Amino acid sequence: MLGLMQDVPLTLDTIFRHVEQHHGDVPIVTNGPGGPVRSTYAEWADRTRRLGGVLDTLGVSADGRVGTFAWNSQRHLELYFAVPCTGRVLHTLNIRLFPEQLTYIVNHGEDEVVFVDRTVLPLLWPLIDTMPTVHTVVVMDDGGTNEVPDDPRVRDYETLLAAAVPVPFGVVRDENTAASMCYTSGTTGNPKGVLYSHRSTVLHAMAVVAPNGFGIGVDDVAMPVVPMFHANAWGLAQAAPMAGAAMVFPGAMMQPQALADLIVAEGVTFTAGVPTIWQGMLPHLAGREHRLRKIGCGGSAVPAALSEAYREQVGLPIYQAWGMTETHPVASGGTLARRFDDADEATKAARRARQGVPLFGVQARIVTAGTTEELPWDDVATGELQVRGPWCAAEYHRPDSPGELTTEDGWMKTGDIAALDAFGTIRIADRTKDLIKSGGEWISSVDLENAIMSHPAVAEAAVVAVPHPTWGERPLACVVVKPGETLTEAQVLDHLRPLVASWWLPDAVEFIDEVPKTSVGKFSKKDLRSRFAEYPAK
Ligand code: ADP
Repeated sequence: MLGLMQDVPLTLDTIFRHVEQHHGDVPIVTNGPGGPVRSTYAEWADRTRRLGGVLDTLGVSADGRVGTFAWNSQRHLELYFAVPCTGRVLHTLNIRLFPEQLTYIVNHGEDEVVFVDRTVLPLLWPLIDTMPTVHTVVVMDDGGTNEVPDDPRVRDYETLLAAAVPVPFGVVRDENTAASMCYTSGTTGNPKGVLYSHRSTVLHAMAVVAPNGFGIGVDDVAMPVVPMFHANAWGLAQAAPMAGAAMVFPGAMMQPQALADLIVAEGVTFTAGVPTIWQGMLPHLAGREHRLRKIGCGGSAVPAALSEAYREQVGLPIYQAWGMTETHPVASGGTLARRFDDADEATKAARRARQGVPLFGVQARIVTAGTTEELPWDDVATGELQVRGPWCAAEYHRPDSPGELTTEDGWMKTGDIAALDAFGTIRIADRTKDLIKSGGEWISSVDLENAIMSHPAVAEAAVVAVPHPTWGERPLACVVVKPGETLTEAQVLDHLRPLVASWWLPDAVEFIDEVPKTSVGKFSKKDLRSRFAEYPAK
């Protein structure tokens, strides 16, 4: 017997219409070199409908890919809805990619038009002749002063918008239609395209907006620091409008001081970004009055020391989430369960350093790598983390080889090594490729980094494997010391001795000026591994 409820497709225009009808007066602010630019969802909705008309005028095919090469801004939010609500596919391009990677993903995605912020135009325009499917580049004047090429392919966003006829939307009937695509950063092999559907996007936004996720409501002011080109902005570009929360966009003003000032001045209550962002912003936020209620963080492990520093100096700990581009990306979140209400601060800090419980909709398991044999949830056994759910990818867009992402029984392989406690709370030990295999046993670089970063003189620490003739691999600690502090190798090792097993102790400590970062601000261990590939064994 079938249920008798309405079968309303979960498409992005349902979010769009909800915002337009119920939250029109809510402010949207975009920072820029001339100061914040203020608007509302009502203005945004009108511009978004016009932008739909622009896509028609530009002749973008019915399911054509539309690239964006832009900072976080209101215009980017207009694209986030106008493109999928007219049936096209939004393709967010990472502005920090190497030129060859950028060319690869634009060609692989077959983008027809790219919308680009004027401040980053010089990174894209010189490559345009390597992107044969792109017939138009639309420049969004974000206050940058770069010269705009005199070329028939180049159009101006505001001029097009002013002349455009608003469109009604509503063309997408099948909720499984593709809405947007995002490429993984390709740490191994070519970048891979993840193709989100309307349905997966709406369901993910509903999970993100709920209290166990980011917990965003109509009384919030949400500021995505995580770029809108990094894994769907962690769902914030759909979740905040869905909730009717005000939005604050940093634009190109991504310096820590500017971000902290914006949070304070605009009364931001929710914000999210990778750990390196919060590391850099701590001195700029510490001791200031603010309205922050939750700081979301993920993309790499959140050191307990960082979260504790925020609790002590900013007044709230960091909320950790785990996920991947392939999981939209938010799959688990670290809200502490009631059973920890009476726990001491050290216990709570240790729990917050974990990656949390799968949000409803996502299932998780750990297996012996390369098999489907499940391992126990005893917080001791570690294995490959696999997930399943309506916002987990089933396969890549035009995959290099079919079936590379999922197991034969339909679970998505994450490439992360994790343990699960009795309640399925995730503890990521490492990415498979970052684990250190010493004498046949695994050492978790994440655990070692957490322990090193709990030293008060350490600003950043990354631990990588270096080759060893006897043990195969041994850990090397790369440490950045806080300005004005001094530290020796012996002091680092003394600090670690009570915290980790003796055979985990790094063979050496290298003091470096800065940990190299990836295009989305994570520690680039690949760079460190190649830098220390010839490290002399002890
Ligand atoms: P990439 O890092 O390759 O650009 P993603 O942004 O999709 O691509 O990264 C996903 C990976 O980031 C996960 O597989 C995991 O290794 C890591 N990650 C994400 N969140 C966390 C977290 N909270 N703790 C530890 N690792 C995390």
